[in-house]
Amino acid sequence: MNALITAADAIALEERHGAHNYHPLPVVLTKGEGVFVWDVDGKRYFDFLSAYSAVNQGHCHPRIVGALQEQASRLTLTSRAFHNDLLGRYEEYMTKLFGFDKLLPMNTGVEAVETAVKLCRRWAYEVKGIPTDKAVIVVCEGNFHGRTMTAVSASIDPDSRINYGPYLPGFKVVPYDDIAALETALADPHVAGFLLEPIQGEAGVVVPKDGYLSAAFNACKKRNVLFMADEIQTGIARTGKMLACDHEGFRADILMLGKALSGGVLPVSAVLADDEIMLCIKPGEHGSTYGGNPLACAVAMEAMQVIQDEKMADNAAILGEVLRNGLRSINDDRIKAVRGKGLLNAIVIEPRDGKTAWDLCLKMAENGLLAKPTHGDIIRFAPPLVITENQIYECLGIIAKSLREF
Ligand code: PLP
Repeated sequence: MNALITAADAIALEERHGAHNYHPLPVVLTKGEGVFVWDVDGKRYFDFLSAYSAVNQGHCHPRIVGALQEQASRLTLTSRAFHNDLLGRYEEYMTKLFGFDKLLPMNTGVEAVETAVKLCRRWAYEVKGIPTDKAVIVVCEGNFHGRTMTAVSASIDPDSRINYGPYLPGFKVVPYDDIAALETALADPHVAGFLLEPIQGEAGVVVPKDGYLSAAFNACKKRNVLFMADEIQTGIARTGKMLACDHEGFRADILMLGKALSGGVLPVSAVLADDEIMLCIKPGEHGSTYGGNPLACAVAMEAMQVIQDEKMADNAAILGEVLRNGLRSINDDRIKAVRGKGLLNAIVIEPRDGKTAWDLCLKMAENGLLAKPTHGDIIRFAPPLVITENQIYECLGIIAKSLREF
């Protein structure tokens, strides 16, 4: 491997010249392929984070990179001032795949959330008839919808919020996985939407009880409230079905996708909804310079086709079981919980003798597996969906060995 820089120099440069808004593991990566990444010293790791589920298709999937290269040499960006020859094809592809009338293209995940919130408010005033500026969107404790002012206003996580006020009004927070609390909140006639993650990823892979999502959907239907599914992390085969909501057999009113929509190649996000909602926004009332660019359209269509052709949802469902069963059979009482769905999983680690989940992640990295703690004691295990059964067993061996040494 011809790394151009040492690990120490790369870290020092970031420290000196970059904002200190992340706390990465001290690993400097330079190459990725499938389930593997390599650091600048040529050491190979299993990637058990998948860039927070953006790399479901595996690093540098040849078909996705091929689509990127082919389109990049032809046309990358036109802005929406003009049509391009791929946007309509992409929108047709996606709306047929997910069963919606329309798609609105954006770039990052949080832009999809912003768009969904704006759409919901428009619909509240123009269709539902809520008095101007009175619309409420119900959100859940423990949510993570991104980093913009809208998303942090909806959050209750002090790390996300502190000293960013004044916050955007119009959010009502209810406990997650509590249908009674949701029903009480929905009794307010000013409620326009219910925004949630079908599994809370950043909160530590919090999986609600079976039946919660469909009960919440039905409660929203009863009150003419839009069910807004943030599937930016849970979607695109990660949990063993194309969407996490598919496990409970309903279609959200507004669907947000991002991350794996491009297979980790460039930021591509999307909001899907039917005409009654989507056509509330008219020309000039919302947009993005890069949203719907032909490069993103080409990449996203290939990334979504790869997911289906390689049956990644099935692989996630089957190997998720293998991974959780394997984790549960590791005989170590510091593992306080194993949870997840498909290949979106987490373990809860009890800190002991001054050693925390962070230390275990350092040990796993030493042994060739990269994972990252969230909220102190939780470690997410979410490998690319191209992982094989043998590789899962190999990784279980690395995790068990790291626990023994840690
Ligand atoms: N929504 C969910 C559920 C997420 O997990 C994330 C990112 O982790 C986002 C939104 C924000 O996506 P992005 O970082 O691309 O803005």
